[in-house]
Amino acid sequence: MSYVDDVLARVKAKNASEPEFLQAVDEVLNSLRPVIEANEEKFKRDALLERITEPERQLKFRVPWVDDKGQVQVNTGYRVQFNSAIGPYKGGIRLHPSVNIGIIKFLGFEQVFKNSLTGLPIGGGKGGSDFDPKGKSDREVMAFCQSFMTELCKHIGADTDVPAGDIGTGAREIGYMYGQYKRIRNVYEGVLTGKGLSYGGSLARTEATGYGLLYFTEEMLKCNGSDIKGKICAVSGAGNVAIYACEKAIQLGAKPVTVSDSTGWIYDPEGIDVALLKEVKEVKRARLTEYAAARPSAQYHEGKGVWTVKCDVALPCATQNELNLDDAKTLVANGCKCVAEGANMPTTLEATKYLQENGVLFAPGKASNAGGVATSALEMSQNSERLSWTFEEVDSKLKNIMVNIFHNADDAAKRYGVAGDYVAGANIAGFEKVVDAMNAQGIV
Ligand code: NDP
Repeated sequence: MSYVDDVLARVKAKNASEPEFLQAVDEVLNSLRPVIEANEEKFKRDALLERITEPERQLKFRVPWVDDKGQVQVNTGYRVQFNSAIGPYKGGIRLHPSVNIGIIKFLGFEQVFKNSLTGLPIGGGKGGSDFDPKGKSDREVMAFCQSFMTELCKHIGADTDVPAGDIGTGAREIGYMYGQYKRIRNVYEGVLTGKGLSYGGSLARTEATGYGLLYFTEEMLKCNGSDIKGKICAVSGAGNVAIYACEKAIQLGAKPVTVSDSTGWIYDPEGIDVALLKEVKEVKRARLTEYAAARPSAQYHEGKGVWTVKCDVALPCATQNELNLDDAKTLVANGCKCVAEGANMPTTLEATKYLQENGVLFAPGKASNAGGVATSALEMSQNSERLSWTFEEVDSKLKNIMVNIFHNADDAAKRYGVAGDYVAGANIAGFEKVVDAMNAQGIV
């Protein structure tokens, strides 16, 4: 049995109840085969793959808080500090009822390679809780965030572990968590990113993941003889990533025609009205039915369906495994030429394979959505030097980073004889730097 197969079998046996984690490890290790086979003896002796698939530290803790009726609620908090070979742990906090240790481990594992790909000095981590901020009052959200941070603050710090937002964790939640961290630790430092502008946040961080996704897509299309201009885009999600993906797509001359949330989706053949979408989702925190009610050209449908719309470019920006094999077949049949992931692992392994085999340009999230964490790292730099850069400065750095990520992934794929396979290219490029640092630091 090859070293990769041996480690995959052991990871499966050890983490049998964590399907998302196994899926992520499967994808990464399989695509790294050419690199691993070229160094098999050394990697095996050093148990490199065993170490890289085992988090450095996993924290799981009780989060008690009191709801508006005076009832005590108890959630579970997690922080997985996966790999600090190239810098302090960095990765978001997800607040969603579906959160469990397997989800956080999959996200933390992906984050290690994504952060490496940005070229910035950040290790990989992820955290979260099964708390659902939807339908809660601001006071309830504050009570939860304060309780969550009361425990988490013992394990993080500006040079140790710097969490950020993710599903369910936006500016409001980051603000409450930052306030509690500062109160308990009595330090004013860049321990969280995605902060408000009045207390150390970076301009362009809110826009960064969606904008970065489009910068990456633009470069990928350009290097493959095409152009983002004039393309019809199907977008899923209606949160932070989806909103700013739509905004940048429009700025680059493309037309996003769909968005979705967990209850339904919008088809708007006139193109998504981003100002209205922001009003519905960022200000009112309402459902997409309100978008449809305010916009005559929009059709609202219950359930799932954005991938049935005819498009040139698909941008999954909601959650993991939201684009499956049937969806991939529909996209290909409808003439879709490019899928770029805004969410983390939104495309199943079978769907990814099908898209690649059918000539669809496929950008894996760990490369194409890395703009968020890259700009978080820029926020850390600004906090360290106690300066703020202009929007244009941050945005132009973001664009450079995304273009470089594309070329690093593209070059790595070419070096290993899999030109055009950006999944393999991104994994290889991210892996090489982490491995180099791990080797230099001995067996830790
Ligand atoms: P938000 O919470 O702002 O938005 C998430 C969107 O996806 C919402 O519209 C939500 O609908 C929908 N959604 C969430 N879970 C499900 C589900 N199980 N089924 C259907 N729809 C769902 O999150 P973000 O936009 O920040 O994150 C979206 C994705 O992008 C995630 O995979 C995240 O990990 C990834 N990502 C985010 C980054 C960031 O900077 N924010 C950086 C890199 C990756 P509803 O409101 O109804 O729940």
